[in-house]
Amino acid sequence: MGELDGLTAVVTGGAAGIGLATARRLAASGASVGVLDRAVDDAPSDLFAVQCDVTDSDAVVAAVAAVADRFGGLDILVNNAGIGAAGTVEDNSDAEWHHVYDVNVVGMVRASRAALPFLRRSQHAAIVNVCSIAATAGLPQRALYSATKGAVLSLTQAMAADHLPEGIRVNAVNPGTADTPWVTRLLEAAPDPAAERAALEARQPTGRLVPPDDIAAAIAYLAGPAAGSVTGTTISVDGGMQALRLRK
Ligand code: NAD
Repeated sequence: MGELDGLTAVVTGGAAGIGLATARRLAASGASVGVLDRAVDDAPSDLFAVQCDVTDSDAVVAAVAAVADRFGGLDILVNNAGIGAAGTVEDNSDAEWHHVYDVNVVGMVRASRAALPFLRRSQHAAIVNVCSIAATAGLPQRALYSATKGAVLSLTQAMAADHLPEGIRVNAVNPGTADTPWVTRLLEAAPDPAAERAALEARQPTGRLVPPDDIAAAIAYLAGPAAGSVTGTTISVDGGMQALRLRK
């Protein structure tokens, strides 16, 4: 018996990285899983993947309905799709600010709006938002990205308050720097990728980047009935980066 037997989940941005690890983890726990991604060609062929950009309201509504139709309802939404942005507050154009907010914040709003009518009919309804340590720690060169993740943190708490009376729990995970295609792209763009990777690892108290499977495990916990009394909170999966001050 899997922890999530009989439940259905949607994972946005589920074709790669943390989203893919989460889709795999939820499926291994017994859930039926549909992934929504703007790049489904990259998704493993055994996943039920629906092409969908979270900036397109109509596409999000149709994609969530397609997953619910296929599996006969919806119990879990993992709002994971997100993009990065580098720079100080001087470095990004207004258009970049609007676009990154549109994906990272309004994208979660669109998917949640589309999922709520289905979640209201579930006995085990949960939303998990993928936030970031950037919401709770000041990181250099991440003004725009951090602002979007701060918004995700507040949005999570507001949604948890709004939807608790309907029996829908809303929580977030705060990953630290994770070993995903996103970080691989960042490293490849650095003048010295090996040195950049070593610097990122050194920032982690654990001395290593966070494996996506560790984040997926926290998401699966928050999404499942075992977390029935957990709402409006966050789990940090950051190798201790937020809370620990180690002596060298
Ligand atoms: P990734 O780039 O490796 O994978 C992201 C997936 O989301 C891709 O499949 C991509 O196609 C999809 N996606 C991107 N924009 C989309 C859109 N507009 N509509 C639909 N799908 C879209 O990224 P990742 O590292 O796995 O990050 C996933 C989430 O985790 C993001 O919200 C990110 O902010 C957060 N996060 C990542 C890290 C990290 O270090 N990698 C740390 C903290 C938080």
